[in-house]
Amino acid sequence: TTQQRKAKEVLREHSIRDPLTNLFNRQFLDESLERELARARRDGVPLAVLMVDIDRFKQLNDRYGHQAGDEVIRRLGNLLRTGARGGDLPCRYGGEEFLLVLPNMTGETAFERAEQWRQAFALERVQGGGRVVQATVSIGIAVFPWHGDRRESLIRAADDALYAAKRGGRNRVVVAKTTANLGLR
Ligand code: GH3
Ligand code: MG
Ligand code: MG
Repeated sequence: TTQQRKAKEVLREHSIRDPLTNLFNRQFLDESLERELARARRDGVPLAVLMVDIDRFKQLNDRYGHQAGDEVIRRLGNLLRTGARGGDLPCRYGGEEFLLVLPNMTGETAFERAEQWRQAFALERVQGGGRVVQATVSIGIAVFPWHGDRRESLIRAADDALYAAKRGGRNRVVVAKTTANLGLR
């Protein structure tokens, strides 16, 4: 029946969504990334993976409280959702870590879009304990096939790039270093 189908749909939605941000959760992302990678491989198109992490978030929680921290996470989630295009898969990957899969996207375009998100987030203001809270993000980017050809290697490359962004001073976007010349440039 229609009702049963609707109930099933609601259950499915809950199983793939993070309750705080309503973005996709990590489990759904891992499955989808496998599928999107297979598609990119088959169609011979690139695919970008963005790892987004809030800067000095522990300090923010300590200063303004966990509730303000949650609100900052929610705000970033909203921003990533509203900036997403059809086919993009934004997800909450961990506590204050987000992962976006952008199918059919080169490193240059992924960098531009990451910069837009980074700059927009830096302009956000959240109320926390009667005070104004602001935060920044660092973003690491890896692109199939240049920085990895499997889920694990791509995520690792994005994570390494994120770490480089943190080391470089935070509030910045770093694209992974190309490790292999695949003759695709
Ligand atoms: P860095 O700039 O290097 O990323 O510093 P950081 O403090 O953000 O580093 P780290 O990733 O180690 O700390 C993340 C903190 O995020 C730890 C944890 O207390 C907090 N956190 C994780 N999940 C949540 C959440 O759902 N809500 C809130 N308010 N805090 C969270
Ligand atoms: Mg952090
Ligand atoms: Mg983190």
